[in-house]
Amino acid sequence: MTNAKTKTPQKHFETLACTAGVAQDSAYGSVAPPLHLSANFGWKSVDDKPAFDYSRSGNPTRKVLENALAELEGGAVGVITATGMAAVDLPLCLVRAGELVIAPHDCYGGTHRLLTSRARQGHFNVLFVDQTDEIALGAAFARKPKLILIETPSNPLLRITDVSRVATLAKQHGVITVADNTFLSPFLQNPLQLGCDIVVHSTTKYINGHSDVVGGAVVAREKALGETLAWWANATGVTGAPFDSYLTLRGLRTLPVRLERQQATANKIAENLSAHPLVKQVYYPGLENHTGYDIAKQQQRGFGAMFSVEFRDEVDARALISRLEVFTIAESLGGFESLVCLPACMTHASMSPDVRAYAGISDNLVRLSVGLEHEEDLLSDLHGAIDATARPARQKRHDDAAANDAVSIGV
Ligand SMILES: *Cc1c(COP(=O)(O)O)cnc(C)c1O
Repeated sequence: MTNAKTKTPQKHFETLACTAGVAQDSAYGSVAPPLHLSANFGWKSVDDKPAFDYSRSGNPTRKVLENALAELEGGAVGVITATGMAAVDLPLCLVRAGELVIAPHDCYGGTHRLLTSRARQGHFNVLFVDQTDEIALGAAFARKPKLILIETPSNPLLRITDVSRVATLAKQHGVITVADNTFLSPFLQNPLQLGCDIVVHSTTKYINGHSDVVGGAVVAREKALGETLAWWANATGVTGAPFDSYLTLRGLRTLPVRLERQQATANKIAENLSAHPLVKQVYYPGLENHTGYDIAKQQQRGFGAMFSVEFRDEVDARALISRLEVFTIAESLGGFESLVCLPACMTHASMSPDVRAYAGISDNLVRLSVGLEHEEDLLSDLHGAIDATARPARQKRHDDAAANDAVSIGV
């Protein structure tokens, strides 16, 4: 773990990711950290409590991942949870009934559901605000919240929130700041260094990156706060399984190389598609016309590998994504495999059409998670599907007219 007092220069991300827990096994000198599946650990005597006694409270394999992520996020304490939602929920244990939580109006759907359901149960009050709107943000802070949740870039439009700005306001008002850093991972953004108190992750996404574990992580900047969160994780029993931690640590080793390649490919595809005549808009923070470009450039070390595309009306997005062969239609993101989804019918289907329209999510919006396949194969997959499903504008008008005729004849 990082010791603030040490004078040795901080090693690079790649080095920290590849040395965490390596060759530290005292039993056999295993180079790869061993997998300790044991639920419990023996005491030498009743007066001699072992470092780990019960795997809900602590586990040596999970500890390696906890320490690695704490170091990579620049925090004092890491807690590994069973899922990303458990990670989002953990800091909410700090909020009492009657106190207020502020969350982004366009936060992850599962987070929206969790916050509204807990608020309905009376666990706390919740207020969803557009955190890029200074006036709305000021009004929210005036209500003396206990905790503010930040999520940037947002899903699926990749809106960017100025993390330092929100964290500074929060500090002035004595509010705990929690940032969901799932979309970028600690390799591309470190909210604790931008002034936040707590970072949460769905490690299911980039950190594990192999679409074979569902998991989460919470990292606190200060030791005392981190220990409180670890206490709650044990009390509520949401800590992650050792095998999941083992696999996630294995994924973490290659996070920098995966993400570097994935974002380079995403950048190329985003640029290519934004020049396509059938594309209305590409939402990628790495494009200069994106509203969050300047802030993203300042607070991120890269633009990530997620973007969304809004097609012109001539394109039937639903038919288009069914035509794709290299991209798999699925929810989730951040894995080695490229994924495509139609937010209006999948990730954001629980929102009413009005709420979706208000949030700027059209029915022709397609979200892409770019994986590690060759960029030429991904591009030709996309172009092939666009060409195969787009109706020429004149043809579409003709079809619409025919459909209208059919209706009036029927009536
Ligand atoms: C996926 C996701 C979560 C929830 O994580 P799970 O691992 O699916 O429980 C939370 N926040 C964001 C931004 C996510 O993308």
